[in-house]
Amino acid sequence: MGEPGVEGKCKVIVRVRPLLENEPKDADAVSVDTEKNNIQVRVLSKSKKLSSTEKNGKATAKAKSYNFDYVLGPNEGQDDLFRSCDIEGLVQSSLQGYSQTVFAFGQTGSGKTYSICGKEDERTSGDKAPSSSTHTVGLLEEASKICFDKAGKMSSEVQVDITCLEIYQEQVTDLLVEKKQVLPVRHHPKYGFYVQGLTQKQCQTVADYQEVVGKAFQRRRVASHSLNERSTRSHLLITIHLTCVGGDEGMSTFGRLCFVDLAGSERLGDTKSKSSSATIRAETGSINKSLFALGKVISMLGNMKSRKSNVIIPFRDSKLTQLLMDSLQGKGQATMIACCSPLPDHCDVTLSTLHYASLAQ
Ligand code: ADP
Ligand code: MG
Repeated sequence: MGEPGVEGKCKVIVRVRPLLENEPKDADAVSVDTEKNNIQVRVLSKSKKLSSTEKNGKATAKAKSYNFDYVLGPNEGQDDLFRSCDIEGLVQSSLQGYSQTVFAFGQTGSGKTYSICGKEDERTSGDKAPSSSTHTVGLLEEASKICFDKAGKMSSEVQVDITCLEIYQEQVTDLLVEKKQVLPVRHHPKYGFYVQGLTQKQCQTVADYQEVVGKAFQRRRVASHSLNERSTRSHLLITIHLTCVGGDEGMSTFGRLCFVDLAGSERLGDTKSKSSSATIRAETGSINKSLFALGKVISMLGNMKSRKSNVIIPFRDSKLTQLLMDSLQGKGQATMIACCSPLPDHCDVTLSTLHYASLAQ
């Protein structure tokens, strides 16, 4: 990360997850050079005419190559992700009053939730602490640890509050309350877009934080079971709000660190969804709308010229971009983690993920 507050492009980290136990071991469709921060995807030609060359043993695969700020391969763990995100720097700058946003983008099953929230099944459950040997910490929990650690050493008084919401089919629900309720997004002339009635929970310790977020994850999971894996079709926004009162200069600062686990991108661009299900068509429509809006907003923000001129950045196009407007427009940076599957069957989607990521960069 550059200096906090440096305006400019979105930092992009591409992460290819390892093969899972039940996946074929011979997959070499995606290769990564972590030294050069390069990723190559072998695209098998779809043309049936080429099958004769295949029979002759000639490769029909073409490799597409991309470079990003960071490319993490299957052997890079969470610590490598924390380092490339500079999670410590992000927390530090939020404590100084900046807004930082970290997104995980990619198809379902590519490692978005793993990167942001840690390992799914062993995640903090709210009522029982995870066993430290198997628990994999994600960016969010690492950030909270750094946060409390730094806050304890500061001369100013630091207040840590958490908000946690889900956007599904352009509807916002609060994950910090028991009863599921759709909340309205309003616009305030001075403070911008906000969710009316959204719960904000104050946390004093990492344990408080784990309890709050653990319960939110549980609620999201419950909702997802009753609605056929809804979690892959909704966006999760968790924000750590940091208020520092009376620092060295006696000034108060309000910073925040927002983590976004985006809906699966596999249907991005699939405007005429073949599914006969009205729900799936509606889901595809709203996912496309928000992911397109986000891509557009990020790439426009990255363009210094459009920031300085009077170009209107289309934040209003979706709930997602409305709610991120403050974070993205303020003095802070956006970090995108573009998550990729290593499987040959997913190459087309992987290429569209990399294309999307390259536009944001
Ligand atoms: P998504 O949220 O994009 O749908 P998940 O984060 O749920 O995907 O990841 C899918 C599966 O792959 C999970 O079982 C997860 O534990 C595993 N996984 C993802 N990324 C990694 C990684 N970097 N290292 C080890 N396992 C991973
Ligand atoms: Mg997920």
